[in-house]
Amino acid sequence: MCGIIGYIGKRNAKDFLIEGLRRLEYRGYDSAGMAVMKDGRIFLTKAVGKVAELESKIRGDARQAMLGIAHTRWATHGKPSETNAHPHADCFGNLSLVHNGIVENYQELRDMLVGKGHRFVSETDSEVIAHLVEEELKSCEFEDAFTRALSALQGTYGVAMMGVSDPEKLFVARKGSPLVIGVGTDEYLVASDVSAMVGHVSKVIYLEDGEMAIIDLQGYRVKTLDHELLEKEEQILEWSQEQAQKGGHPHFMIKEILEQPKSFEDALRGRLLVEEGLAKLGGLMPVEERLRKIDRIVIASCGTSYHAGLAGEYMLEEYAGIPVEVEYASEFRYRKSLIDERTAVIALSQSGETADTLAAVREAKRKGALTLGVVNVVGSTIARETDAGIYNHAGPEVSVASTKAFTSQLAILALLTLYFGRMRGMSLVTGKRIAEGLRMLPSLIEKVAEQSEPIKKMAKKYQDTPHFLYLGRKYNMPIALEGALKIKEIAYVPAQGYPTGEMKHGPIALIDEQSLCLFIAPKDSVYEKSISGLEEIKARGGRVIVITTEGNEAIGGKADEVILIPKTLELLTPILSIIPLQLFAYHMSVAKGYDVDRPRNLAKSVTVE
Ligand code: GLU
Repeated sequence: MCGIIGYIGKRNAKDFLIEGLRRLEYRGYDSAGMAVMKDGRIFLTKAVGKVAELESKIRGDARQAMLGIAHTRWATHGKPSETNAHPHADCFGNLSLVHNGIVENYQELRDMLVGKGHRFVSETDSEVIAHLVEEELKSCEFEDAFTRALSALQGTYGVAMMGVSDPEKLFVARKGSPLVIGVGTDEYLVASDVSAMVGHVSKVIYLEDGEMAIIDLQGYRVKTLDHELLEKEEQILEWSQEQAQKGGHPHFMIKEILEQPKSFEDALRGRLLVEEGLAKLGGLMPVEERLRKIDRIVIASCGTSYHAGLAGEYMLEEYAGIPVEVEYASEFRYRKSLIDERTAVIALSQSGETADTLAAVREAKRKGALTLGVVNVVGSTIARETDAGIYNHAGPEVSVASTKAFTSQLAILALLTLYFGRMRGMSLVTGKRIAEGLRMLPSLIEKVAEQSEPIKKMAKKYQDTPHFLYLGRKYNMPIALEGALKIKEIAYVPAQGYPTGEMKHGPIALIDEQSLCLFIAPKDSVYEKSISGLEEIKARGGRVIVITTEGNEAIGGKADEVILIPKTLELLTPILSIIPLQLFAYHMSVAKGYDVDRPRNLAKSVTVE
């Protein structure tokens, strides 16, 4: 999820590259680097940390180059370090590459290339691309070497590359990661999103998956990887800088909600063996023998991650048969918790820096437990301090209210359920069913997210509601808690999240004609039980929005509004039912005129106690 920028033209490339990196920084900021071509040689500069670090390194460098590429990294493979920062080179520094995405078969390619004498310097997956091109260059020209190398890759890429054997050309390609070409007057920019080029070019060409382009001062040619020339339409770039950073969306939150089909798929990428009904979790390999022996799991987390943990508890206990306890990290760190070396403590944290969760990890280690991190930010403190872990690969989450990180946590917890389940007697048939269910989810999430407009209307209609009650049962109980948290966080409306069955033990007293209940009742094993709760609310005059399964439209007779979600396995329903609640909170906050992405009193990653 990094930012790529490239320039070829008659002006100083460096200025465009630095400005572009600054604008792309929201996409990743653990390290940055730049390479420029001058007099047939490549000059490389890299720095750990923000783009400002790179800027201060190149300040004073008067070299004027007219071709260059740059990158701000959001690490997926290999810690954030200067060596792992892009651009990457071949063995002799004769070519330079920036990459966005994940090369899934990098290990296999790396082994093959090392066998042929290539020397690797970084831990990244990306570096294999540079060496592959170098290898191919032994028998062909740069353009062929570039396409042949790309054809050997599995996974996703947006790449920009240049080489001394063809020093006046910029090569780019895309598969699964965005890449845009900006057309200026006698100059061209390439970038992973248009925000980097707004103001410099007025026309853009969006590359599609499987397309590449060769750009020089005379123009650009877009081709397939089989060298078939393509006619591409140039589109007028009308975006303002502010909009562009949000990909055309008014807020990061809605952008991130709508990104969930992709971020969910990224969390699963390379990890799901559908035919074998298995989850392949490379990050757990070093501790696999210990994991076989654990007899208890404690999930320590805070806020939204805590709610993901609760859904994980239900999944793991039902399908993997391991006792699981979910604890607020802020409690776990201080109370006496009975854990030992047969306990695995899983720390869930988007940022990997949450102070309470980190403290829980340290306390668990002191007590001899095995610690696992499920974090989104590669190289973060929790990732470094846990014994092993799994990255979410959700990409940078900018909005304070977490959305895509939450669903990616659910993806990882479902993968863990498969992993532990198959280790402990889950049948191949059940494993396959869950794996297949997971594989189908991205397109189902997309279908739910398409209901943004009708949900916006509902949010407007109920905008003045003074109090919300969110109810859900079994797998959707944590979703009731998470839905209520979302509306509190960004719309500042008092809201209670409760298990449906608990309502009659207290919160039912809050029901009146003013209140609104968001009632999650998919057609699952507890549907009939849930419906009695709905009757109880209606009997007391409360208003209700029901979230239920497609085909159950008949429930409309009992509810004020109905939101339908597609059918999936019961344990996976939370991944669909949370989407309308995220959208509802978002549109409610917008309707009330609040600063959605920067809600009052909150911070994105809570690094204090
Ligand atoms: N997989 C590459 C890396 O870890 C690229 C990550 C990115 O898209 O920033 O370096």
